[in-house]
Amino acid sequence: MRKTIAVMTSGGDSPGMNAATRAVVRTALSEGVKVFGIYNGYRGLLEDDMFEMNTRSVSDIIQRGGTILGTARSKEFETAEGRENAAENLFARGIEGLVVIGGDGSLRGAQQLTEEHNIAVVGLPGTIDNDIWGMDYTIGSDTAANTIIDAINKLRDTASAHRRIAILEVMGRHSGWLALITGMSGGAEYILVPEEQFDLDKIGTEIREMYEENQKRYVLIIVAEGAGSAIDIGKKLEEKTGIDTRASVLGHIQRGGSPTVMDRVYASTLGEQATRALISGVSNVVYGIRHGRVVNVNLYDAVHKKKSLDPEYLRMAKVLA
Ligand code: ADP
Repeated sequence: MRKTIAVMTSGGDSPGMNAATRAVVRTALSEGVKVFGIYNGYRGLLEDDMFEMNTRSVSDIIQRGGTILGTARSKEFETAEGRENAAENLFARGIEGLVVIGGDGSLRGAQQLTEEHNIAVVGLPGTIDNDIWGMDYTIGSDTAANTIIDAINKLRDTASAHRRIAILEVMGRHSGWLALITGMSGGAEYILVPEEQFDLDKIGTEIREMYEENQKRYVLIIVAEGAGSAIDIGKKLEEKTGIDTRASVLGHIQRGGSPTVMDRVYASTLGEQATRALISGVSNVVYGIRHGRVVNVNLYDAVHKKKSLDPEYLRMAKVLA
């Protein structure tokens, strides 16, 4: 039984991180375990910026986006010396286990910390990108997808009124999950993702035909940021087709907002289970949801294996476009 643990949020924030933090803190306290909150991710850990949390520390946060613990990026933690200092700060306070809520990079850092310093670590996947191997959901991805859908609905209204081509750029430097899921549920004609090649000349020719034959009143394209810039793609398509084109970049709005029911339920469930496991002696795993159930995935695998897009969704999105 571990008696003292700590929790942090790290890297890009995502809606539901607070719900996860709340679950970690309240689960630990219910087991009589001391829990420290570390401010600003690994940077805060290196600065020994932490405080002992109580049940009130996480009051009134389940509905809030962002993270009350704050988050940051730390170059120093990427060095072996930095991680040694981080481990020393944990040991000095008698912290026996750490919950890291963050994305791919943060979990990579956690993996190195546990490998080099034998600190018990469990990860919770906090990222809107939904790009962690071994699971089909990450905390915040549902809220972000719903934020994008809201924007798509609005874009459709105005694109339809003017018979324009509408292009929306969404987040996803390495993963096209957000683009795929929102393109599919938003009824996009084209979904451009970093995982797949596409030919703008061919797309331009197809759009021209759609307009000439009156098959479509307007065309909607969703592009993941890692697949190209909406502005550049828009310019090229307008040149190629002669059709009025408007590009929008949604940006950081996608990160914010009150978490959806799904993100709250899963963040709470994962936070509770991961904390119980950490307290009882488990380490080196990331808790996630696969096929609607809680799973724990080896931390090394989670950060070293690459998650691919669901080929069925890719196929279906084309059929239904
Ligand atoms: P995210 O967790 O959202 O993917 P980042 O990739 O920015 O965000 O990672 C957050 C922090 O995790 C970095 O600032 C760094 O301190 C740490 N980190 C990222 N990658 C590594 C790595 N390969 N080794 C050690 N630490 C890392």
